[in-house]
Amino acid sequence: MSDYILVLDEGTTSTRAMLFASDGVLAASAQEELTQHYPQAGWVEHDAGEIWEKTLRCANEVIPKAGGAAMIAGIGITNQRETVVAWDKVTGEPLTRAIVWQDRRTEPFCAELRAAGHEAQVQAKTGLLLDPYFSGTKMRWMMDNVPEVRSAAEQGTLAFGTVESWLVFKLSGGASHITDASNASRTLLMGLTGEGFDAELCDLLGVPLPALPKVTDMSGDLACTDAALFGRDIPITGLAGDQQSATIGQACFAPGETKATYGTGAFVLTNQGSVVPNSKNRLLGTVLMQINGVRTYAIEGSVFVAGSLVQWLRDSLGVVGTASETEGLARSIPDSGGVTIVPALSGLGAPHWNAEARAVIAGLSFASGKAEIARAALEAMAHQTHDLAQAFAADGTTWQTLRIDGGMSANDWMAQDLANMLGVTVERPDFVETTALGTAMLAAVGAGIYPDLQRAAAAMRGDVSTFEPSMEDAVRQERLSRWRRTLQAV
Ligand code: ADP
Repeated sequence: MSDYILVLDEGTTSTRAMLFASDGVLAASAQEELTQHYPQAGWVEHDAGEIWEKTLRCANEVIPKAGGAAMIAGIGITNQRETVVAWDKVTGEPLTRAIVWQDRRTEPFCAELRAAGHEAQVQAKTGLLLDPYFSGTKMRWMMDNVPEVRSAAEQGTLAFGTVESWLVFKLSGGASHITDASNASRTLLMGLTGEGFDAELCDLLGVPLPALPKVTDMSGDLACTDAALFGRDIPITGLAGDQQSATIGQACFAPGETKATYGTGAFVLTNQGSVVPNSKNRLLGTVLMQINGVRTYAIEGSVFVAGSLVQWLRDSLGVVGTASETEGLARSIPDSGGVTIVPALSGLGAPHWNAEARAVIAGLSFASGKAEIARAALEAMAHQTHDLAQAFAADGTTWQTLRIDGGMSANDWMAQDLANMLGVTVERPDFVETTALGTAMLAAVGAGIYPDLQRAAAAMRGDVSTFEPSMEDAVRQERLSRWRRTLQAV
């Protein structure tokens, strides 16, 4: 019986192949690091050829552990969103390096569009802001600055796509040029309610519509691998951007259900059901799912600095030797002794959106030591999440519980502090690879192993730990007013 699902998890720093059994147990995995190219300050590039080669190698490493390609019911791909690949449809070769989501080179073009008054209309249509983060202006930059891209566009052979789109093209031997609706909703080129890419938005951004992939569902018979690759064709049955995938992996299927991923940064998404998001508080509106042509939406808030603050304490200040030491330090004292950190090391994201802000460590005294700094760093996660919770509430979405994951969620002290400061139950799955799991669920449904995501979740998700709020309101209020005061200083 072919009942394994192969998930290709395409992160920013690595590519992984993960083999899931139909009960959600991770049977095997392989991983390779990706080279990061920084040609100039603010520029970040990947080599799309390297992504493909390493993905193929990782897949070939785990497929034999399933007993061969015949044992794999479907492939799912989840990916770093917004990163743009340009390739030639005829040769199948990349035309230039991929521009990564973190890349800021298109800020002048975004500023031009904002100054011309386009942001309100673009936000209403796409749910996004005019920021270099999103794919559309990166495509335009390639059109203007890479002669090979422009000439391929003129000859009708240009293909643009995000990373999952590129990999489906390669896996299918060039037969399929598609993108799933969750990835498409991060480009600035698709309306939240439009079926495919939007001609008006393409015109505004200067991106040729014929170069864009076809927008598809996220689960189903989406494409098929070239039989020459793995000895047998394997259907591609699940596709999702990484944050949408984690939201599905956390089984946030009902409106209001929310997940927060604490990795390098923090990403919070709340299911909005069929309600098209229209944030008044600079949160993003995005497609959470598209299945059988029906869309579910989410609102999203991202915090730029989460685990990277702990990494900075470790690597630049030497406050801790390992990230997990922060937990013992935080527990060793009753409070932070008035020390407060605003971790704006690379500006502030949602809901503040202040690119110029810089970090502050406030309230230091001779009594302050490593423990106070470590505790204040962890406390900052709950403070930042609290600001997001308020913005979400102002947009009409009150969190009942918060489902957390990501590397930093392993920190029990932080999980408890989140529950205390937000006043809601915090749940953490024992299996924290929710991004890969969400896509495994989509692919399992797409391959017909389960009839729907609810049943896939029931079978494939493991146990969760819960953290209940237990903090006196006075303590909580004192923390929040200290945080707000310190925010004024950035
Ligand atoms: P990403 O997927 O963004 O690379 P991960 O989900 O792997 O990130 O999480 C890694 C981040 O979490 C690092 O920045 C690290 O500092 C932080 N981290 C990992 N474990 C802990 C811990 N026990 N306590 C606090 N921070 C942690």
